[in-house]
Amino acid sequence: MEGKCPMCGAPLENGTCGYCGYHEQATASSNTPQTNQPVQPQIIINNQTVQNPQAGTPNIIPGVSRKSKMVALLLCIFLGGLGIHRFYVGKVGTGILYLLTGGIFGIGWIVDIILIAIGTFKDQFGLPLRR
Ligand SMILES: [Zn+2]
Repeated sequence: MEGKCPMCGAPLENGTCGYCGYHEQATASSNTPQTNQPVQPQIIINNQTVQNPQAGTPNIIPGVSRKSKMVALLLCIFLGGLGIHRFYVGKVGTGILYLLTGGIFGIGWIVDIILIAIGTFKDQFGLPLRR
């Protein structure tokens, strides 16, 4: 099983976080012979190598989506029938479904407005939207 990203809490896929770009070096295995030099996990955010992740990631909050709840709510209210709010949070698959079905005939549209408003709507990684 893959672990969770130490930067943002999203699930890691092959040691790489698809959410914030965190990349875990594949030297953590206990079966791998250790070299004398300590191996530091390399952290790559948006294709930029960040020396100090504490100072270099102002937009990353651990366990919280980078997507704004307010933006998602407005998109859902005005464009929810087209699934635009689901594209916004990265849920492309259900976004296309909403686009083709008119927000699942308006039902999913209404449900999503409620879910976003009460704060239980999640992004593609299952993280709650930030305020
Ligand atoms: Zn991450």
